Amino acid sequence: MTAHRPYVGRFAPSPTGPLHFGSLVAAVGSFLDARSRAGRWLLRIEDVDAPRAVPGAADGILKTLERFGLDWDGDVVWQSARLDQYRDGFERLKAAGHVFPCACTRREIADSALARDGSRIYPGTCRGGLPPGRRAHAWRVRVGGRIEFDDRIQGHQEEDLATEVGDFVVLRGDGQFAYQLAVVVDDAAAGVTDVVRGADLLGSTGRQIHLQHLLGHPTPTYAHLPVVVNAAGEKLSKQTLALPVDDLVAPDAWLGALAFLGQNPPAALRGAALTEIRRWALDHWSPTGIPRQAAGPPGPA
Ligand code: GLU
Repeated sequence: MTAHRPYVGRFAPSPTGPLHFGSLVAAVGSFLDARSRAGRWLLRIEDVDAPRAVPGAADGILKTLERFGLDWDGDVVWQSARLDQYRDGFERLKAAGHVFPCACTRREIADSALARDGSRIYPGTCRGGLPPGRRAHAWRVRVGGRIEFDDRIQGHQEEDLATEVGDFVVLRGDGQFAYQLAVVVDDAAAGVTDVVRGADLLGSTGRQIHLQHLLGHPTPTYAHLPVVVNAAGEKLSKQTLALPVDDLVAPDAWLGALAFLGQNPPAALRGAALTEIRRWALDHWSPTGIPRQAAGPPGPA
């Protein structure tokens, strides 16, 4: 569907802390995939979830990307400046009857089965209308049907949204638009053709494709990179105290990211300048070499 459109990729970090090795891998992977195909590589700061944004984190991320030679095209897009666009998207869903108000509290759905991202599968309580005397505090989008897509790295994916996810929240009780809606609105507005990101987001993709269908947006091509885990097999995040990449020497961290992505950087690049490593990586970028899963805990080369 998107083959005839010029490649537009993006990196979309959430400013919840400094970049760690896992997010560097996503940045390097999406950067190389875009630039090796003469595509644009956009940067979006995902600060739609205002309560989770850490002051100063976004500026730190921009500086880190510059230090790592990951230069983006155009202006940085800030989700916090795009609330009107999310409201438009929401209003379009509402006008078409795709969303409904929901009064359920977290505790009321706590007995439902778990979806694969750890959220609860919505049991449909308010789907046909609010229970008498109850007040809505969130809006959910109706789901139905199977979503299928071919991930360039993870292979064929299928998800039955009704049984595996349930109607999901697009506007939260605290007035915040959900990440799923914001991403879909933003990727469409920017003309993103190719999403390259960590496989921890594989479980969100079905929901995003569903929203693309409802809003009439094209579906990008997806490539979900292996998730970086620590020695205990846990995803790297602030909670697992992953080392911020700022504490690493940039060329070493690049070589570590390339090795993790199955690109086999030659030993001769050890000690080379960052621009030389980046040039080699662009010339030799091989998406087919990327493993589905991490072979083991990574480290800078
Ligand atoms: N903001 C998300 C994260 O940092 C990434 C979203 C995306 O790439 O679609 O995990």
